[in-house]
Amino acid sequence: MIDITLQEVKQDEIKKELVARTDQNQVNVTIAGAIAQAFWFIFDFMLIEQNISCLFIGRLLVLFIPLILILFRKKVGLNGSQCFLITSALLSVLISYILNSYDENILLIYVFCYSILFVCAGALANWELEYSLIFVVFSLVTNLIFYNTISTIPVDVYIVKCLVPLYSSALISLLMINNRRKILIHELKITRALELSNSRLEEQKNKINAELDFLIYSISHDLRSPLMSVKGLITLISETEDISENVKNYLKMANVSIDRLDQTIYDILEYSKNSRTDVQFEKLNIRELVELINSDLKFYNDNSVDFQINIIGAEEIYADKKRIITVVKNLVSNAVKYSKTSSEPSFVKFETRQTPEYIELIVSDNGIGIPKDQHQRIFEMFYRVSSRRNGSGLGLFIVKEILEKLGGTITVESEPNIGSTFTVRLPKSYQ
Ligand code: ADP
Repeated sequence: MIDITLQEVKQDEIKKELVARTDQNQVNVTIAGAIAQAFWFIFDFMLIEQNISCLFIGRLLVLFIPLILILFRKKVGLNGSQCFLITSALLSVLISYILNSYDENILLIYVFCYSILFVCAGALANWELEYSLIFVVFSLVTNLIFYNTISTIPVDVYIVKCLVPLYSSALISLLMINNRRKILIHELKITRALELSNSRLEEQKNKINAELDFLIYSISHDLRSPLMSVKGLITLISETEDISENVKNYLKMANVSIDRLDQTIYDILEYSKNSRTDVQFEKLNIRELVELINSDLKFYNDNSVDFQINIIGAEEIYADKKRIITVVKNLVSNAVKYSKTSSEPSFVKFETRQTPEYIELIVSDNGIGIPKDQHQRIFEMFYRVSSRRNGSGLGLFIVKEILEKLGGTITVESEPNIGSTFTVRLPKSYQ
């Protein structure tokens, strides 16, 4: 059972992720703030007559220092939040200076604009609370210094029209920043915990799958040898002379059942091999593949089926040799197995074709065919259309599994009593 508590999530990792996530955001806000100085200067120029050169220098400093800082921040070892803090500090000096240079009539307009600026910064920044406090305290101290040196506004008016609205908006943004940060940290913790539990689940799943595969492999492997011994004994008994025809028939039936069971075990082993082993790409000569199938056909084809080959284009393909052999053998043996028993001559065709994106391997026959509503179901595990012929119902399931692993596909076209065509498509990018 996977159980991850939020405490298990490492705090320093969360901190790192938080910095990484907010870094670019802070850089963007800093750049926007710096560039806005040019527009603010025009605004100042229209409203203030005295000391415009001081303002101009101030705006230039707030414009260029942050941009230079951002440019070299990696060399100096600053993160986005620290760049933003330095910009804010510079800006607060400028704001304090400007606020104290105004007469009381236009003070409110400026306070309103700067309050909006505070709140917007609060909505965007995820920085640490200390940074906000430094920013606000710095602004307050410079405000008081400038008030003492340049302001002509009475102190009570200044407090009501400037300090109260300005620092209440600063307080609101402080709360916003703090809440945003808390929410983000919680979100990150939950995401991390989920990732952690996912990776542990994945690890457990892989372990269980590997154990299960190993179990299937060992059981199937161990079952085959006693089965072969029984088959050998049956052959020996049926060759003895003093047994009746009846017993001989029973032994034949036992032999068929053993072959069926052996085929099922063989298929299970093939399936297990496919899921246990990694894909190995190598050159595969199509003619070589045909030779193999031809020699194999001798075992399951009593020469009543004509095997036709047509190779167009790809003589050699680059694929997992063993898996491709399993795929083609399954399709060809099915085509032979499900041939018609009527007098009409049966054939099995094996063709290869090339399209710009795929190598196609096509196996077609004029056998008993498959009803349309069963076309998708035949690829399911243990699914058989009819049990009149021997089979485990695993062959096409294994074929589909193999092709999924190779990034290929298989499609079927078939009509009852006319025949079937299975088309395997292998992506050429592997070739
Ligand atoms: P089986 O071991 O039964 O052959 P497969 O998974 O290979 O299992 O095939 C599933 C079913 O699909 C078969 O039982 C058969 O009914 C049908 N089938 C497969 N290939 C052909 C074919 N070439 N012609 C007709 N039916 C086929």
